[in-house]
Amino acid sequence: MKYISTRNKSIKVSSAEAIVNGLSKDGGLFVPEEFPKLTKENFDELIAMSYPERVAKVLSLYLEDYTYEELLDYSTKAYSRFYGDDPCPLVNIDDGLYVLELWHGPTCAFKDMALTMLPHLLSSARKKTGETAKTLILVATSGDTGKAALEGFRDVEGTDIIVFYPSDGVSDMQKLQMMTQLGDNVFVCAIEGNFDDAQTAVKRIFNDEQMQKQLLDGGYKLSSANSINWGRLAPQIAYYVSSYCDLISSGQIKYGDKVNFCVPSGNFGNILAGYYASLMGVGVNKLICASNVNNVLTDFFTTGEYDTHRQFHKTMSPSMDILISSNLERLLFEFCSRDDKLIAQRMDSLKKDGKYSVSKQELENLKKIFEVGYATEDDTAEVIANCFEVYDYLLDTHTAVAMSVYDDYFENSGDETPSVIVSTANAYKFPCDVYDALVQDYIEDAQKATKKLNAYTGEEVPAPLADLDKKPVRFTKVIAKQDIEKEILNYIKK
Ligand SMILES: *Cc1c(COP(=O)(O)O)cnc(C)c1O
Repeated sequence: MKYISTRNKSIKVSSAEAIVNGLSKDGGLFVPEEFPKLTKENFDELIAMSYPERVAKVLSLYLEDYTYEELLDYSTKAYSRFYGDDPCPLVNIDDGLYVLELWHGPTCAFKDMALTMLPHLLSSARKKTGETAKTLILVATSGDTGKAALEGFRDVEGTDIIVFYPSDGVSDMQKLQMMTQLGDNVFVCAIEGNFDDAQTAVKRIFNDEQMQKQLLDGGYKLSSANSINWGRLAPQIAYYVSSYCDLISSGQIKYGDKVNFCVPSGNFGNILAGYYASLMGVGVNKLICASNVNNVLTDFFTTGEYDTHRQFHKTMSPSMDILISSNLERLLFEFCSRDDKLIAQRMDSLKKDGKYSVSKQELENLKKIFEVGYATEDDTAEVIANCFEVYDYLLDTHTAVAMSVYDDYFENSGDETPSVIVSTANAYKFPCDVYDALVQDYIEDAQKATKKLNAYTGEEVPAPLADLDKKPVRFTKVIAKQDIEKEILNYIKK
């Protein structure tokens, strides 16, 4: 199976090339030429498998350059880094209500589900495509991707990784996780501004031929670990398939039954993987896209207009503080009958005017499967407290956004379809806000808040977060966003 660009279908590459390059030359995103379908027999087979086997099976349908054995080797290595018995447990908290915990990896956020796999896929893709230049991974992060990518790529041969994060747009815990990162091929730097400033600066470099030439002279080619890279998105499809298998095997549903997934969304990579899983044959009733007060997606799915002219809010769910959701481009590609020229036009207008619209028909079709909603800061805090009181279940701030939006959906629709809340982070990644939500006492210091939260809830602090304060800080640099090029060139000279 080949991969095509959302902005020009005549650009066709192999799966290995799509992963090595990250982004298509025309600025478009790579998507598979078609979506593989899972049969009833496939599901029977998948149900009997372990999680690493399920991942290898699902990926083998997309990544033809890799054998099943290779993929199984990577997934076995990747998910052995997770703590606990199951990399993504499905927890039943109420009748027909489940929480899919995607945060048992090395950095305690769902990004680990894919970013423990991507370095294996990428290293091997370098060999398969005969790439001789070193691969330079550039990441703009709203907090969780950065750390997960650093952990994934640290000391991986043939790669270097540079992460830029917004100086005042990530939680203290997230910042500390990145500043203490180990590895000889890593560099971390803060950019003055918010996530969109960081993401725009990084995207500028991907589109800057002059810069790419300078990098190549230094022996480097760029790639991306953001969810614009297919190698990042594909492993995410696997956990939707896997949770559906778990629901069948535990007798909660029958093969073919439909379920809802409610997903706390930012760059739209997680929920898009859920949509792709539905195209493969996972029974999906509704995909519920949950936002915080940066609700550009809520407005888009309501009006059909994507408009970035709005205030940017800093919230307690920083990984969703995003105004430009890159992966929406891939979804729209499917809903406009894969009209690449139309997508190119719209993305052009997004760049020039900060907005674009879809047709009435497209919007109607989107609404058949997507539901939307957003949670205010108060809603989010309230849900954390409620959920702990009622279910004795501790939510992080992002998952709480999803739970709040799901509650609204359930109340308004009365839809009794079994529903999965996709849980994207462990609560201890955001200890100050979670503790405040529970007892109305905001403690500035993340380590102190962690201890208080632990004493109050009795929930175990995950090992990777437990002794961060004892690790030496390695990276403290903060730069202006226009200095990002200079910073990168400095790094590769070393
Ligand atoms: C990245 C992230 C999200 C948003 O996921 P997208 O794929 O960007 O929509 C939500 N919650 C947490 C904790 C995250 O790290």
